[in-house]
Amino acid sequence: MIKEDISLALDYLKNSSPIYSDFSVASVLTDVDGNKFVGVNVELPSLTNGICAERNALYHAIAEGSKKYKRIVVVGGLHGEVTQLTPPCCVCRQALMDTCDPETFEIVVAINEEDYKVFKLKDLVPMGFGPDRLED
Ligand SMILES: [Zn+2]
Repeated sequence: MIKEDISLALDYLKNSSPIYSDFSVASVLTDVDGNKFVGVNVELPSLTNGICAERNALYHAIAEGSKKYKRIVVVGGLHGEVTQLTPPCCVCRQALMDTCDPETFEIVVAINEEDYKVFKLKDLVPMGFGPDRLED
């Protein structure tokens, strides 16, 4: 359920570590079997080693052996306060293009359980480059 995933993401928002931007993000990736994988953004003193919440959740799923994904929920905000929709950055959109079906995979950006929008990956990555282009 989308609302449960939003609630879970909001619970994890406090665990993000945005030591430079002070912009907290949490995400919950659901695979086709219903398994949930949580990620938060992590910024580190060695600047380039940080990661977004979305890829953190995706790589967590991959590490657990999950291979097919249904949906990702994303919440975020400055000073840990969610006051606006937080769409994935383009690096994360590409990582999702590389691993998810753009026709069916859903990206949910939420403020709370009642205020959210659902997009298909293909709509947030128009003319995206995916692994299908590497096939004969
Ligand atoms: Zn990102």
